[in-house]
Amino acid sequence: MRCNKFIFYSTTLTLTLSRLRERELESDGNLNMFIDTHCHLDAAEFGDTQADIVRDAAAAGVGRLVIPSVERANFETVRALCQRFPNCAPAYGIHPMYTGTAVPHDLDVLREFLSQHQPVAIGEIGLDFFIKHYDQTRQEHFFVEQLKLARDFDLPVLLHIRRAQDTILKHLRQIKVRGGIAHAFNGSRQQADEFIKLGFKLGFGGAMTYPRATKLRELAATLPLESIVLETDAPDIPPDFLQRGLPNKPEYLARMAQTLAELRGLSVEEVARATTANALSVLPALNTGAL
Ligand SMILES: [Zn+2]
Repeated sequence: MRCNKFIFYSTTLTLTLSRLRERELESDGNLNMFIDTHCHLDAAEFGDTQADIVRDAAAAGVGRLVIPSVERANFETVRALCQRFPNCAPAYGIHPMYTGTAVPHDLDVLREFLSQHQPVAIGEIGLDFFIKHYDQTRQEHFFVEQLKLARDFDLPVLLHIRRAQDTILKHLRQIKVRGGIAHAFNGSRQQADEFIKLGFKLGFGGAMTYPRATKLRELAATLPLESIVLETDAPDIPPDFLQRGLPNKPEYLARMAQTLAELRGLSVEEVARATTANALSVLPALNTGAL
């Protein structure tokens, strides 16, 4: 009996492994390119140069961009951009720094966009307790309501978190969503582990390219590789290698990946494959789009 069981298990294992290898071969091309999981392509800094930005990104190996919204006023712009560029995927949401001007009806509009336009996530949402004059209660209200939408639509969330890691974790424990990305992660190792337990990946980008960012670089070097995704947050968070004053762009993601590879003692190809697989697993709707 034990022997039969062993044969059964080893046959199943061999089959599973060969199937995995087949799938790996089929998707090889996809996994060797980068995904920028956070790029504000509609930002004013980019003027009307979006076509150049998307083309330059693709030429640098950044084949897929996730475009988060920040307020109701830009949902339609983000939708139109993603329709124009098939390798761009939208997320809709109200950013904590835009909750001051948001009104309750914006949540109805968000619900409408979620049901009509198949985003890959709800975002960018979260809490920003860094700037004191932002109304924290109001931020929490919009954050909680959007978490409920994420739960109802079974969508991942893209989180903006500043000085609010533990408050965000508290809400995530109360309202169970399917995970998402803690964008521009800058918390402790312990907080990182809590996000991972809740189904989240941690977003790393330009900030880790600064040699003085020792704590962040330590995290990038030591967190489980399967928990890391790459992002630029373009036009914000310019990397160390960019001349001061110039906007960040998704094409720079490839060089940020080089930093991550050096920090972890991996090849850039290994970083590309891992981070792309991680992005596809946490944002499954990306799998259905053009890659
Ligand atoms: Zn952002």
